[in-house]
Amino acid sequence: MQSLQTQLESTCRLIQNEIGIGKVANYIPALAQVPPDKFGAAIVTVTGETALVGAAQEAFSIQSISKVFALTEALNLHGINLWNRVGREPSGNAFNSIVQLEKEKGIPRNPFINAGALVVTDALLGNQSTEDCTGKLIASVQTLASDSSILINTTVAESERATAYRNAGLAHFMQSFGNLNRPVNDVLDVYCQQCAIAMSCEQLARSALYLANNGTDPLTGKQIVDEERARRINAMMMLCGHYDASGEFAHRVGIPGKSGVGGGIIAVVPNIAAVAVWSPCLNANGNSHAGTAALENLVRLTKWNVL
Ligand code: GLU
Repeated sequence: MQSLQTQLESTCRLIQNEIGIGKVANYIPALAQVPPDKFGAAIVTVTGETALVGAAQEAFSIQSISKVFALTEALNLHGINLWNRVGREPSGNAFNSIVQLEKEKGIPRNPFINAGALVVTDALLGNQSTEDCTGKLIASVQTLASDSSILINTTVAESERATAYRNAGLAHFMQSFGNLNRPVNDVLDVYCQQCAIAMSCEQLARSALYLANNGTDPLTGKQIVDEERARRINAMMMLCGHYDASGEFAHRVGIPGKSGVGGGIIAVVPNIAAVAVWSPCLNANGNSHAGTAALENLVRLTKWNVL
């Protein structure tokens, strides 16, 4: 039996030619500065074993991966009432699409498309200041990762906030249906900060470990969510974690995952490990091309698929 480190290394060797295929996201200007040839991967097991390859300790913009942490916090705050404001179905549309919102009266399909994530942010905000809300979110991510050095990249946050035309459109539209409680600007302020959290693959894999261990961080013993909620967050990742390519990801990789336009993906192997990969060049659906290929090969080698 090969060691975890050897398995991750051989997996990543297989996809070297995939690195650089696709396009670095440029609709958020600061993201366009990231070198296209970066690649990192990390596995952290529920017993605390860690394997790292490439730029696994380099921080990058987690973007929509943050939606998993925000959903976790919002469910802990509002329980099942959150589902009155956001659905639980795959959208079959692009991450920033507005088309379904009109037909479905301002209730976004799921918490991982942008519209749904904006509702989750609004739910997290409640009556707090935007600073308090952002502060609590970053503190909870630091707790999940057991790493207080994690920060928001303010250049990325400001760059996204200055160009958040599409998200502003989604938010105004939902507000017209009464599905936002706070002013659009407050929601966008927090959302753009949340997406600009900078983390490495190692930190991300560590922070997703509670989802691989029925809701409890196996290394600290702290319960983050109960078992049923962990199962449901994983189900949401499996069905909606890669936008309109979620079916494709399930087909190729077969474990719950969540991608971000920074090129990161977190993936959960129930009862075994959490995995994070990063490579900034994206496919046409906005998911990391080489990252997906790496996960596909890792699962093929380890047989960690749940489907
Ligand atoms: N901050 C990005 C946006 O709202 C997140 C998109 C993503 O990572 O998929 O467009």
